Amino acid sequence: MPNKALNDLTRQVHEDLEKIAYASGPWVSSVLTHHGEPVLDVAVIGGGQGGLATSFALRRIGVHNVRVFERAVKGQAGPWVTFARMITLRTPKHVTGPDLGIPSLTPRAWFEARYGADAWRSLGKIDRRDWQEYLDWYRDTLSLPVEHDRELVEITWQDGLLHLGFKDQEGSLHSVWARRLVLATGIEGSGSWHVPEFVRNNVPGHLYAHTHQPIDFEALRGKRIGVLGGGASAFDNAATALEAGAQSVAVCIRRKTLPRINPYRWMENAGFLAHFPALPDLTRWRFMRRIFDLNQPPPQDTFWRCSRHDGFSFHGDTPWLDARRDGETIRVTTPHGEKVFDFLIIGTGFVIDFSKRPETASFAQNIALWGDRFSAPEGEESAVLDSYPYLGPQSQFLPREPEHPDSAMLGMIYNFTFAATPSMGLSGASISGMRYGVDRLARAIAGDLFVQDGEKHLESLLAYDAEELVSLGREGEEQA
Ligand SMILES: Cc1cc2nc3c(=O)[nH]c(=O)nc-3n(C[C@H](O)[C@H](O)[C@H](O)COP(=O)(O)OP(=O)(O)OC[C@H]3O[C@@H](n4cnc5c(N)ncnc54)[C@H](O)[C@@H]3O)c2cc1C
Repeated sequence: MPNKALNDLTRQVHEDLEKIAYASGPWVSSVLTHHGEPVLDVAVIGGGQGGLATSFALRRIGVHNVRVFERAVKGQAGPWVTFARMITLRTPKHVTGPDLGIPSLTPRAWFEARYGADAWRSLGKIDRRDWQEYLDWYRDTLSLPVEHDRELVEITWQDGLLHLGFKDQEGSLHSVWARRLVLATGIEGSGSWHVPEFVRNNVPGHLYAHTHQPIDFEALRGKRIGVLGGGASAFDNAATALEAGAQSVAVCIRRKTLPRINPYRWMENAGFLAHFPALPDLTRWRFMRRIFDLNQPPPQDTFWRCSRHDGFSFHGDTPWLDARRDGETIRVTTPHGEKVFDFLIIGTGFVIDFSKRPETASFAQNIALWGDRFSAPEGEESAVLDSYPYLGPQSQFLPREPEHPDSAMLGMIYNFTFAATPSMGLSGASISGMRYGVDRLARAIAGDLFVQDGEKHLESLLAYDAEELVSLGREGEEQA
């Protein structure tokens, strides 16, 4: 139940936006219909923080004919109250994002209205459930145009427009025409969550789960759990299993030890966040090799959430080489011998692979990747970075073969997922990247639309005849 302070804040947001409304009116000369059906200027896929903030940023700069499509039902977008098992965000509380610099829209303003200024002062990090509540308030306060229960499953190019095919949870199909498309489909939005082949092939589904999947932690009480991976999600799930009464939880990683340095904290400066895309390829490559090499340590409080339990153990230099079922237990082969578990939690993140997404599978083979456009100097190779899309300066897809029939369509699609990172720096799929990434994306799309319609805007100017000097007579006299 929104409290008075939140109602006041909502009113404040509206007043603030009104105060800065100059030049935010609609200016795009939209293609209104095609075959009698409406045409959007921009379709945004994904109703998470990225998609919501993008639609707001577009509206602020006069691009109003926009709709956001989300496959989940209301309040279930993103990881925060679905599969995330951390207690708080991993990001420090001062990191703003969706607010785009408007103080009354910040997470802090919302939190203080919700819980009071003292609560903010004593707050460590924002609880993930509060973050979702903030995003719900943000969506509703800004009346953002989100259509839920719409999964994008197909993108085709017809008559110079994108034709988007959606499916709802009942399996009914819907379609929309659009001039531009933003894929804000999440951290794994350009590929899929990854489970090593030997687990997929050798371990039955009821004996393992990836960290993004539902897990019945109660059923893990008294069990021996093996966790593969050293990222924050692996430790979040390890801690949740320990708190649910698991007998033992062994976290195993390939590296000798956990990374301790978090490059995200270094990246949180306006220079890097705003200007990384302007760097030459080799420099961007070297930045990303270092950032991917460093990876991210689990937050300190998350590690302590595990290590406070006697049943917790951590194993560096312990890659899993194979796994096999033995009754209702799993025998995992490591270089240091066999480990026996009752259940496996796979925290190996995601891979970039557009052929794995229904919405991009039909043209995946023509999306230019770093491996197609850049050859790393000897000793600086990275198969992982090679697999990421080599995006254009506006975060748009580029064709592998410029002559390919898909090429025109690709330029109309902007990637705002984690896959954009090697090309654009922090942008989609991180709170830290939103402040500059969302604005840059919205201005890029608006720029593309303005230039595409340049002649139309000129015609509109040439036809402009609204007189400002309406009287050459004396003030108050009938118009002369
Ligand atoms: C467990 C977890 C914890 C994280 N914690 C942090 C953190 O503390 N701080 C931080 O900065 N970052 C964090 N991140 C990274 C990042 O901020 C989040 O992934 C965040 O959710 C990204 O926002 P988004 O809007 O890009 O994607 P999401 O919030 O994932 O939203 C994308 C939406 O797109 C929808 N979608 C996907 N495909 C389709 C389709 N074909 N059709 C229609 N809808 C579709 C999905 O249902 C989803 O709701 C975390 C990520 C994870 C997975």
